Amino acid sequence: MHKFTVLIVEDEKSISDFTSRTLVSHGYRVSCASTGKEALSLASSLCPDIILLDLGLPDLDGMEIIQTIRTWSGTPIIVVSARTLEDDKVQALDAGADDYLTKPFGVSELLARIRTSLRHSNKLNNGNGLPQHPYRARGLEIDFSKRTITVEGQAIHLTPIEYKIVAFLAQNSGKVMTYSAVMNNVWGPFAESDNKILRVNMANIRRKLERNPAQPVYIFTEVGVGYRMADDEDMP
Ligand code: CA
Repeated sequence: MHKFTVLIVEDEKSISDFTSRTLVSHGYRVSCASTGKEALSLASSLCPDIILLDLGLPDLDGMEIIQTIRTWSGTPIIVVSARTLEDDKVQALDAGADDYLTKPFGVSELLARIRTSLRHSNKLNNGNGLPQHPYRARGLEIDFSKRTITVEGQAIHLTPIEYKIVAFLAQNSGKVMTYSAVMNNVWGPFAESDNKILRVNMANIRRKLERNPAQPVYIFTEVGVGYRMADDEDMP
């Protein structure tokens, strides 16, 4: 069986050791870097399948590392940062990171994030331009070729803007999408920087999709960062 290689970039030895032990025991091959320079050199020599990147490194700025890697590689990058630094997470996602983990994180969360990112990178690499298969999760179904949305078989009527938002989140299901990523995708590069229009649309979407809009099961809010749509159940 092909083992996936994870590059762990972390200067705190206890966290690096814990993460490494956890991943090895779950069948991953692991390499560790404790500085940004080491990370960049291992990223190119090792060609890891996924990179876990601590944003607080002694030598290089995390954003710089992401941007540098993104100039030549699409390897999924999951950033790891402290709970309070929401701006960092947004910046990292917009710089090209795929997802983030908040310290302290648990084993199941770590494994879930890695699985999701790997699945997405495989899916993207296999992309052949054909229409995507329908998105399905918890009774919600989106047919991208017909542009229809149903919940438990009942048609849901969304405005074109609302549909674009939901389709974009569904095509990136399981991953957090920043407010600005959604805004850019839906309203284009001249979108206003204020995300009020997005929040208004999301409130309407939830009223139409969710049984209880205050406790959504399809589209989750990542406070201060963006939205994450429930994982596609059919995705391999
Ligand atoms: Ca650190």
